Amino acid sequence: MRAMHFVGRGAPLVAVAAPLPDCAADEVLVRVSACGVCRTDLHIIDGELTPPKQPLILGHEIVGRIVQRGNQVAVLAEQQRVGIPWLGATCEHCQFCTRGLENLCDHAEFTGFHRDGGYAEYVAAKAAFTFPLSDRYSDTEAAPLLCAGLIGYRAMRCAGDGRRIGLVGFGAAAHLIAQVLVYEGREVYAFTRPGDDRAQSFARTLGVVWAGDSLTRPPVLLDALILFASLGSLVPFALSVVAKGGRVVCGGIHMSTIPSFDYSLLWGERKLLSIANLTRHDALEFLALAPRVPIKTQVEVQPLAAANRAIDLLRQGGVQGAIVLDCR
Ligand SMILES: [Zn+2]
Ligand SMILES: [Zn+2]
Repeated sequence: MRAMHFVGRGAPLVAVAAPLPDCAADEVLVRVSACGVCRTDLHIIDGELTPPKQPLILGHEIVGRIVQRGNQVAVLAEQQRVGIPWLGATCEHCQFCTRGLENLCDHAEFTGFHRDGGYAEYVAAKAAFTFPLSDRYSDTEAAPLLCAGLIGYRAMRCAGDGRRIGLVGFGAAAHLIAQVLVYEGREVYAFTRPGDDRAQSFARTLGVVWAGDSLTRPPVLLDALILFASLGSLVPFALSVVAKGGRVVCGGIHMSTIPSFDYSLLWGERKLLSIANLTRHDALEFLALAPRVPIKTQVEVQPLAAANRAIDLLRQGGVQGAIVLDCR
């Protein structure tokens, strides 16, 4: 099969002819049609996250069709369209798995990190961590739901049910979650890179009540603010724009160092928390909700062979919505 290999920190991905993945008894083999490009992939390429295997196939927003089922798999059908997210396997018996917190599993395996991902023509995935997708979405449109959507949704739920919600970094995750918040009747405040008028106009088209630069104070104090940008330097600012009892949720897997800040910013029962990974419950809930809203995903599609260019586009910013690889 054609695949793009991550071969080491800082190096471009390499196009290779790789053997077809083995399909274990509890796995399905999936012919990949689309795979989203996530900021986590950038963190891996930049050496900010170190995967345990190399070469590695990145990609954890995978849409494809099942072409083979392991002999223990009874739930899914061949040719069924499925999505494969970041959470690839859990141990099911650690102190977190047994409390419904499998996102924190001590022995989790992540797609495109411990396990090969979707920057390829085929991928093998645990059937129990593979999800049917609504017909409302095309393959490329469905891809961003699987990480930007799922992690964004978990971050949104952890932000609480306050009315005024800020979203910092108006990229793939924010453009999906803004639609859910608007659907729920909440006020969304969008913070973009300084001077990014295009992103601010895009946010307004999705129904946000205010859009501005990431260091501009909004006109009111917020109940919660979700940081989708991976800049730790934004945390003190974020705390300064939430009201007493408000929450600041860090929505990425990696964040640069958070500078020290005065205790007064946290005082008043403000909370600062991170979001780690997702649970299968999050996936089922969000994938059922998306077509009801209905969330519209905006995608820019690049061919699999242009994965390095797609990564550069994400790094440069300025893409509206999400970048997705066409792997057919
Ligand atoms: Zn991701
Ligand atoms: Zn576990």
